[in-house]
Amino acid sequence: MQLQLRGKTLSLLLVGFATTALAAPVTPVPEKIPWVVADRQDFQHPDRVHLTGWVGTRLAGNESNRLVKIDPARLLEGYRQRPGRQSWDGEHVGKWLHAATLAWVYTGDPALRAKLDNTVAELCQCQLADGYLGTYLEKDRWTEWDVWAHKYNLIGLITYMRYTGNMAPLPTCRRMADLLCQTFGDQPGQRDLIKAGHHAGMAPTSVLEPMVLLYRLTGEPRYLDFCKYILRSWEQPNGPHIISTLLTLKRVDKVGNGKAYEMLSCLNGALEYYRITGDRQILEACLNAWQDIVDKRLYLTGAASYGEHFHDDYDLPNVANVGETCVTTTWIQFNAQLLRLTGEARFAEQLERVVLNQLLGAQRPDCAAWGYYVQMEGKKPYSDSLDGHCCLSSGPRGVALIPTFAASTDTAGVVLNLYDAGTARLVLRDGTQVSLTTETRYPSDGRVQVTVNPAAPKAFAIKLRIPAWCRSAALTVNGTKLVGQPAADGYVAIQRTWTAGDKLELNFPLEPRVVIGDHKNQGKVALLYGPLVLCADEALLTEAVKNLATLTIANPEVAALSVTPEPSPAHLKTWPDAQVFRIKTQDRKTGAPVEVRLLPFADAGGTGTRYKVWLPLPRQPGANLLLDGAESRSRPGNVSGSINDDDLQGPVVTFDNQRAKEDWFAVTLETPTTLGRVVFRHGNNFHDGGWFDASAGKPKVQVQREKGGAWETVGELADYPATTATSNAKLKPGQAFTFQLTSPVKALAVRVLGVPAGGDNPNQGFASCAELQAFDP
Ligand SMILES: [Zn+2]
Repeated sequence: MQLQLRGKTLSLLLVGFATTALAAPVTPVPEKIPWVVADRQDFQHPDRVHLTGWVGTRLAGNESNRLVKIDPARLLEGYRQRPGRQSWDGEHVGKWLHAATLAWVYTGDPALRAKLDNTVAELCQCQLADGYLGTYLEKDRWTEWDVWAHKYNLIGLITYMRYTGNMAPLPTCRRMADLLCQTFGDQPGQRDLIKAGHHAGMAPTSVLEPMVLLYRLTGEPRYLDFCKYILRSWEQPNGPHIISTLLTLKRVDKVGNGKAYEMLSCLNGALEYYRITGDRQILEACLNAWQDIVDKRLYLTGAASYGEHFHDDYDLPNVANVGETCVTTTWIQFNAQLLRLTGEARFAEQLERVVLNQLLGAQRPDCAAWGYYVQMEGKKPYSDSLDGHCCLSSGPRGVALIPTFAASTDTAGVVLNLYDAGTARLVLRDGTQVSLTTETRYPSDGRVQVTVNPAAPKAFAIKLRIPAWCRSAALTVNGTKLVGQPAADGYVAIQRTWTAGDKLELNFPLEPRVVIGDHKNQGKVALLYGPLVLCADEALLTEAVKNLATLTIANPEVAALSVTPEPSPAHLKTWPDAQVFRIKTQDRKTGAPVEVRLLPFADAGGTGTRYKVWLPLPRQPGANLLLDGAESRSRPGNVSGSINDDDLQGPVVTFDNQRAKEDWFAVTLETPTTLGRVVFRHGNNFHDGGWFDASAGKPKVQVQREKGGAWETVGELADYPATTATSNAKLKPGQAFTFQLTSPVKALAVRVLGVPAGGDNPNQGFASCAELQAFDP
């Protein structure tokens, strides 16, 4: 019997499905130290799972368009000619080795393996006689990012050794670890590891993770002793107090300096340490961190920080260096670790959210480039090099990890976490081999058919994650409908004797959802469809809606929006079943009905266009008139942010290390609008400027009445303090200065203009602005 849906049969829709190929099985080199805490859900070596749907397309491209194309000479350059181009250049090779090894296990690609073998041998050649394998000159050792580089070298080389069986790099790893053990510690004559790098010591002490891995691989007790020292160092007076803070305050923004990537890296190491010690406080601290992030510090797309830090409760601006990809990858690792240790579906739920939205959104759809900050609106900053950004080597690690948790096993049998099409070749804990073939167009279709093939008939459970967004999942086995409730672990378990060819059919009806914004997104809504966060994107604008800034959601009721998926137009088709989503809304001014198509966040901005997750509701009386305008400034500056989002985060600057006679911040509206009051909010003070020098006059308020017209001065910010080129007169970040027009002016654009200050560096000057607002008379 076949699943009947909308009058068509599932099998008809799935005709012509690609056959799948699994790489030859790989057996990792065993560890010498047994685990005290067994995983509830097993880590799957990447050769066990082969995905062919949307996620599979991104996995394949991660290898063929990114990892295999990286130039090893670029990875090794800072080691061959120390100190390299910048202070953390040493991290890239280890991160590449980790991602590329997992990708090779997944595909078995001989070209990638040859590149791995060669790069590993060359890296080991760069080790100095005393064991040092960083990129620093001897005089600068252990000051910033070289313990960090040793961390990634160990992670990369240990992953390589375990999967290839080539143990040649082991002496290199031991010498690196021995050097760290001798150099750092709390014994007389040893250095303080906390002081060997940034972020309250969280950067250098994140070497915990590979030190646990090396201890387990070698059984060498001194590596365990070093791990214990790291745990002690966290609680030293100058340490980040990671575990104690998470146990008491239960807030990640209060740990160390709140730096997200380094903190999550430490927590991932702590969970590896928990596995061999069983110290329950570590698990409890990590669970507290997870709950805090999910409840108060997570974006809709699964991004988990802005400005690279965790901030106050619900402090989640849409632009302000949001969504560092290194944080996305370590957040994925953290959830995958907790999923293994607890076996609870809530961690798999977060994995789906972050993988299908933020991670794939950080990867350019052709998989050749990555973004550093992948924000809730703006443009995606894709780069196909390794230059300048940590994230460019972190993103590929996140993608390479997907097969390790997409499908899994536990004491009851099989667990399905992600629903991409493909094949899994799993081994149950009693040694029974079970292969699964998943046919689906998910997430473009909620129907998923899994053919179960145990080597012989066998009683076991298949646990299914029912997506949290799904209100009415339907399950059948060989055509018979089943009713299942999630158990305490969050999964619906189907326990039966499975025989080769058994068919499990799932239907997760895909539906639109509207999220009404709160906190920083008040007055805005976001739209989701099934697991996908949707975006407005310039690539899909039409005559009816020509400008992203003018798109409003007239009525946020799901029924009124009439969200309808349709195949992506050819230029945006990132995989065969890619979709866009047509919605109905109204023209903001005329009230005429308009239609606009939205893109999934993962595909948005893929062609270099601007996109936006949170879409404004119609303007409320008394609201800022400039919200929908286009912002500009005299000089682009060197930070990203917005001055017309009613959000004090993400102030912009005009800094370019040059002098300028004047600087301005402007917002241009679509049509002339009557303004009664203009508010300028100061950005930040820096040692070398950031304010207007008012010694020759207060900042001016100017308007432009029509397109291309002259700027007219209508007044000045009389309440701006008596600043000078060198004194900011104690201006506060976000401080508001108001100009009340004596008679209202109808203007197309408004700007504030003044003389930039240079602070302690008179050879240049710049100003900054957090918000420019205008209100009704
Ligand atoms: Zn990064």
